[in-house]
Amino acid sequence: MIVAKLNQIKDSIPENVSVVAVSKTKPVNDIEQVYNSGHLDFGENKVQELCQKYEALPKDIRWHMIGHLQRNKVKYIAPFVHLIHGVDSERLLNEINKQGAKNNRVINVLLQIHIAEESTKFGFSYDEAETVLLNANALENVRINGLMGMASYTDNTIQLKREFQDLNNFYNKLQSTNNWTTLSMGMSNDYRLAVSLGSNMIRVGSLIFGSRN
Ligand SMILES: *Cc1c(COP(=O)(O)O)cnc(C)c1O
Repeated sequence: MIVAKLNQIKDSIPENVSVVAVSKTKPVNDIEQVYNSGHLDFGENKVQELCQKYEALPKDIRWHMIGHLQRNKVKYIAPFVHLIHGVDSERLLNEINKQGAKNNRVINVLLQIHIAEESTKFGFSYDEAETVLLNANALENVRINGLMGMASYTDNTIQLKREFQDLNNFYNKLQSTNNWTTLSMGMSNDYRLAVSLGSNMIRVGSLIFGSRN
């Protein structure tokens, strides 16, 4: 059931678009089913849950931290995290760099851009992101691989389209100078639209694993 759902989603998008299976709140058993089908990318939004699942599951899983990350918790995921999607402050970026150095690795991250109209969603403005990029080259143990955005919680397609389109334009403007590979946008409800507007990484939870409590 879960695996069939994931494969259905994969069949509906171009091959260059990767799927992060968002397993937050879901049991280890569910993740094992998906892992056994050959899928390796999973997303969590809480550090403690991410660490527990990392401990319990095969070590070749690529763990994506997709939620808001507090600086004092970076150290727990720094040894193993595959990609941190939600970098939304320069201080957080510096802390990830520091923990990367301690673990002798380069940690891949995305800058989160605030594209939604709601004030509750985290992220940089476009101008702030450009400023961060100017200073980021000096950081040796963190690598900015692209951008992440969460659109407004709405079924207004015109608005969603505008938010995704703006992010895609900004990504395209800066992609080559920064050697970016990843534009992470699109969730269960809006991934088709996001992909049609340039996303190459979608983060899908409830559509794969069923609704969360
Ligand atoms: C929970 C979550 C998702 C997945 O949401 P669904 O609507 O269940 O697909 C994607 N991105 C982030 C940042 C999330 O927190």
